[in-house]
Amino acid sequence: MRKPSTRRRTTQSISPSVRRLVHHRDDGRCRVPGCRHAVFVDVRHIDPKAEGGSHDPENLITLCAAHHRAIHRGTLVVSGGASVGLEFRHADGTAYGSPRVSPRSSTTLATAFRALCSLGFRETESRRAIANVHPHVGADDSAETVLRRALAELTRPTPPHSANIFGPKAA
Ligand SMILES: [Zn+2]
Repeated sequence: MRKPSTRRRTTQSISPSVRRLVHHRDDGRCRVPGCRHAVFVDVRHIDPKAEGGSHDPENLITLCAAHHRAIHRGTLVVSGGASVGLEFRHADGTAYGSPRVSPRSSTTLATAFRALCSLGFRETESRRAIANVHPHVGADDSAETVLRRALAELTRPTPPHSANIFGPKAA
């Protein structure tokens, strides 16, 4: 007996013509710099479809399976759009493939990213929270510290327009 599949089929609703267009635009290859994979590639969303990402070719990219997984693991961060230019970064913000990457802080940030996702936060909001706390992360900070700061960022109440949210400054 077959178990019901719980896997999200993220690519099912990209129309064949759009898929062909993106595949052709990307030369049938994974767009990640330094990757020349042309097999096991698929057209993927830059902003996940489940989180409101559109099927506009601007939001679509050809990726190999390994780099697609890296994005969901948070070790590869893609931003921008297909026509305005795509940016590929390690979790620590350095350009993807750069020798200046800090493996330690990249791992820390990616671990915190995955923890946020597993807590139920969306990939897009988790990525934004990690990007916001990233400048304040020191080389010795643990994933737990980063996670705590990112959670504070994500759960901070939205300020009402006119109220003085900061109140009187503490002496
Ligand atoms: Zn690739």
